[in-house]
This record gives sequence, C-alpha cells and structure tokens, in this order.
Amino acid sequence: MAELFYDDDADLSIIQGRKVAVLGYGSQGHAHALSLRDSGVDVRVGLHEGSKSRAKAEEQGLRVVTPAEAAAEADVIMMLVPDPVQGRVYEESVKDNLKDGDALFFGHGLNIRYGFVKPPANVDVCMVAPKGPGHLVRRQFEEGRGVPCIAAVEQDASGNGFALALSYAKAIGGTRAGVIKTTFTEEAETDLFGEQAVLCGGTAALVKAGFETLVEAGYQPEIAYFECLHELKLIVDLMYEGGLSKMRWSVSETAEWGDYVSGPRIINDGTKAEMKKILGEIQDGSFAKEWMAEYHNGLPRYNEYKKQDGDHLIETTGKELRKLMSWVDDQD
Ligand code: NAD
Ligand code: MG
Ligand code: MG
Ligand code: MG
Ligand code: MG
Repeated sequence: MAELFYDDDADLSIIQGRKVAVLGYGSQGHAHALSLRDSGVDVRVGLHEGSKSRAKAEEQGLRVVTPAEAAAEADVIMMLVPDPVQGRVYEESVKDNLKDGDALFFGHGLNIRYGFVKPPANVDVCMVAPKGPGHLVRRQFEEGRGVPCIAAVEQDASGNGFALALSYAKAIGGTRAGVIKTTFTEEAETDLFGEQAVLCGGTAALVKAGFETLVEAGYQPEIAYFECLHELKLIVDLMYEGGLSKMRWSVSETAEWGDYVSGPRIINDGTKAEMKKILGEIQDGSFAKEWMAEYHNGLPRYNEYKKQDGDHLIETTGKELRKLMSWVDDQD
C-alpha cells in the first residue's frame, strides 16, 4: 500500500530556509511560484529574455530573471519547462550553476528516468508532482485546500531529500490533501502508460472506432457523435465521483447489462497483450528515445497524425454540433 504524508509530516521551515528557482511559468510553473511565495518562500522565476510569460509573472509580483541567473541564485531549482526542452535548459542554464548541496526538482520523472538530464552526484534530485493541472493546484491553494501530490527522491546527496520534497509540497498545498511517496521510475512509466493506453490514446481510438462503425453502417454522423463522444463526459464524471459502481448505479439496467457482456469483447485478451507490449516499450526506453528523436527532428510524423485526425468526420461533425450547446466552451 502507498505511504501517505500530510501537513503534520512536513516542515515548512525547510523550504522557507532555501532559495527557490522556478524555471517556466506555464500551467505548473505559475501555480508553484505563486504558492511558494504566499507560503513565505524566497522564489524567483527563470524565463528566457523573449518569453511571453515574463510580463505575466512580473504583473503577479514575482521577480523574473533568466533561467541561468535563477539557477545560480537558487539552491532549489524546479524544472517546469516543457519536458522535451528540459534537457537543453539543463545543459545551457542549470548544469554549471549547481553547487554542493543544491537540489534539482522536477514535476515529472521523464528526463531523469530516461537519462536526458544527468545531474552530478553532489545534488539532491527530487520530484513533487501535483495530480492535477496547475490552475486547479493554484485555486485549491488559494481556497485553503490542496491537490494531492506524489513525491520522490532519485538521489539523496544531503540525506534529507524527502523532507525537503515534503516541505516543498506543503508550500504548494499538497500535504493538505495528501502526498504519496513514489519513485521517478514508477511515476514516469505509469504516466506514459496511462496516457497512451487509456486516457488519451485508448480513449481517442475507442471513440473514433465506435463513431466510424455507426457511420459506416449508415447512421447519421450527428447521432453517432452524441452516442460515442458527447455522452462520454457523463460516464467519466460518474466514474470520477464514485468509481465503476457509481457509473453502473446511474445508468439503466440495460446499459449495465450491455457493459458486462460487450465491454470484454471490445477490450479483450488481444488488447491487453498489446497494452503489455506498449508497457514494454516504455520500460525499455524505446518509446522515450523515439519521441525525443521525433521532437528534435521537427515533429514531422506528429504533425501528420495531428492533421489526419483534425480532418476526421468526428471533428467536423462535433464542431458544428457544439454550436448548439451554449454551455460548452469550445475555445482553444
Ligand atoms: P507548460 O507548457 O504549461 O509551460 C511551460 C513553460 O516553460 C512556459 O512558461 C514556457 O514559456 C516556458 N519555457 C518554454 N521553453 C523554455 C525555455 N527554453 N526556457 C525557459 N522557459 C521555457 O508546461 P507544464 O504543463 O506546466 O509542464 C511543466 C512540467 O510539469 C512538465 O514536466 C510536466 O510534465 C509537469 N506536469 C504538468 C502537469 C499539467 O497538468 N500541466 C501536471 C503535472 C506535472
Ligand atoms: Mg545554484
Ligand atoms: Mg499523468
Ligand atoms: Mg504525462
Ligand atoms: Mg444512449
């Protein structure tokens, strides 16, 4: 069973005694920087000269310097730039500014797990990853609550890495909700697997296949859109609130019966065998290697896939149908 840590297990004064650099001011970066500041922590934001986020961070009362300056000033450096650029930011701005006893923090384990960032042995390497988007992390903090976090220590040079990570998590509200101890390996591998097999990849493919099956059988795309995509939200909300049981309690007995007899025909032993192969490619590093090569090659296949799915009938149908739903926000 997972180990859980709460406010009483964390000592806020540890992070209050450090100088923190938050590199990046996007979804997570803004939430961490603002809540650290509100928790009495000495924080600066590291952004490159041309960054559009600079003005926003300054308006919100934060001091902004370059990533290299931030890393040089600080003894705790939190990497919240996009995962594929962390390797470059580390090489260009962080590496030469690490001193004995510094700590390098991450919000996701990918770059450490697959060796795209290789910190020296004299620094702590820690992770504090909220299990929610940054805007929720910040809003919960402001309301006196918090989003659960997971925390890990990959390298414990000081011997106090986990206490430091818990202290950081407390400063952004994480220990109010609960912090689960994990490892960089567990977090990185399960995160990639979840988004590929279930959350993004699995769900998108399931929705498209169901939609195509109905349309190819002669049903109207608009009706197929409602049945295979639109209504998914109601189902997922029920699962989120009360697991599979609440969803099954809420739908009709007919739907529940169909769930039991047809679901396992769709997601069957063959599907699970493929999931195991996908997990294998995540564990042996081949997925991460291929993705980084694609990213640094200018994203040719990524853009091809994006275009193909962007033009799919389910997308053009949905765009029109959502205009009928005044309550749906279809902004990017
Ligand atoms: P984001 O894309 O929202 O923001 C990235 C920020 O980095 C922006 O402010 C951008 O201006 C800045 N940036 C881009 N290139 C830069 C560079 N070369 N130098 C300096 N700054 C640069 O990113 P995010 O979603 O907040 O993700 C940050 C980290 O948090 C990632 O490791 C991600 O996996 C992790 N994470 C994200 C979420 C989430 O919900 N978004 C949740 C948990 C963990
Ligand atoms: Mg430093
Ligand atoms: Mg995840
Ligand atoms: Mg992810
Ligand atoms: Mg129905």
